[in-house]
Amino acid sequence: MVITRFAPSPTGGLHIGSVRTILFNWLYAKHCNGKFMLRIEDTDIERSKQEHVQDIYDTLNWLGLKWDGDVVFQLKNIKRHQEVAQKLLSEGKAYKCYCTQEELAAMRELSVKEGRTPGYERKCRDLKQELDKPYVIRLKCPITGKTEFTDLIQGHCCIDNEHLDDMILLRSDGTPTYMLAVVVDDHDMGITNVIRASEHLNNTYRQKQIYDACGWTTPEFAHVSLIHSEDGAKLSKRNGATTISEYEKMGFLKEAILNYLIHLGWNKSEEEILTIDQCIKLFDIRHVRSSPARFSMPKLLNINSIYMRAMSNEDLCLALQNFAGSDKYDHAGWERVLAGMSELKSRTRTLAELETMSAIYGNDGTYFGKIEADEATKNLFKNIIEENNWPDDIESLTAWLNEKIASHGKTLKEVAPAIRMALTKEKVAPSIFELFKVLGSKIVAKRLASSIA
Ligand code: GLU
Ligand code: ZN
Repeated sequence: MVITRFAPSPTGGLHIGSVRTILFNWLYAKHCNGKFMLRIEDTDIERSKQEHVQDIYDTLNWLGLKWDGDVVFQLKNIKRHQEVAQKLLSEGKAYKCYCTQEELAAMRELSVKEGRTPGYERKCRDLKQELDKPYVIRLKCPITGKTEFTDLIQGHCCIDNEHLDDMILLRSDGTPTYMLAVVVDDHDMGITNVIRASEHLNNTYRQKQIYDACGWTTPEFAHVSLIHSEDGAKLSKRNGATTISEYEKMGFLKEAILNYLIHLGWNKSEEEILTIDQCIKLFDIRHVRSSPARFSMPKLLNINSIYMRAMSNEDLCLALQNFAGSDKYDHAGWERVLAGMSELKSRTRTLAELETMSAIYGNDGTYFGKIEADEATKNLFKNIIEENNWPDDIESLTAWLNEKIASHGKTLKEVAPAIRMALTKEKVAPSIFELFKVLGSKIVAKRLASSIA
């Protein structure tokens, strides 16, 4: 059975690139009828925070990417990591290295001076006797030959063993290194496919050597490229939002984010809308492109607006209440927002934009302030304010209003900007007939009156 995993270190917010990696792990597991596991790599005690662990749970739950089985905490497996290191030691596949930090630094300096690649030059590898000094455990790595594997995304990967030094498995305080912990845990969890960020590609050679030394089958690897910003640089705070919670706050729907991330670097058209079930069926990790994916805000906005328009007005109103807080407007205000939703959603791309524009309906007779208007327009406003017998349906209302405008010697084109400004204080808003209909005579009268007071 295929078993994939997401193995975050809980040291910060979840990056949008990590969400893409999670998604690929999840999709691939579902596609193969396998399992998707979650392992929290909390061995860095100083930097690991419970709030980040919670953030990981919350994000996975919000996105609907549920993991199978219990969460594995790496810190709890330390004894097992130590046991594996000791076993390699007793089998002669690892050795004790007694070099101090100072000695290592001096050796490094010498290698640089003499033009060699700096790295541990195996001083203790063939020591005959044990010393009564603190030590680390290093793996006896192969000195000649190659280490190679075929990555499902990056293709054939190969390195000459002479470029890798004898890596540390266990530090002198007995704690395992990332290299050892990740291999032991992946093995013990039965992980068949390691799908992770491409920044770990170079670690894979070392991890392969640990698998080999332990006599374990190596999982299949798939290294997912980074997400770059539109200008080609690595996505960072400076050129776009990076954590998933920032996108949530910007008012993106999770379905749209997922749909966008699925397509990013996959061989499907980026603006094609697929259901999650279709994605599960179609997804193959081998089809993910190896080149860095390019993040495009206009495309994400476009997908989000497609999703918003596809939602029923009621559902979108609920989503907006969750986003903005249902106490933002009173009951009547929310009713008006719902009544005007069709036009609101065709003019906005995110929940945040929708929230902004919804204020024209949600607030009641908010005083929007004075506007510039000529005498004829003012008279038209006064005339409308006095009327309280408006037609109900939009067609008669349109005819009625057009007639009023004409009777004051104006055209719709001339007065529409003033009316829109008086009713919404915005230059871009739903059509004025729609505004009249949704706001109703009382609120329209209040706003028109305050605009010419
Ligand atoms: N904990 C590592 C990280 O967050 C990932 C380890 C892995 O996927 O192998 O970068
Ligand atoms: Zn040494």
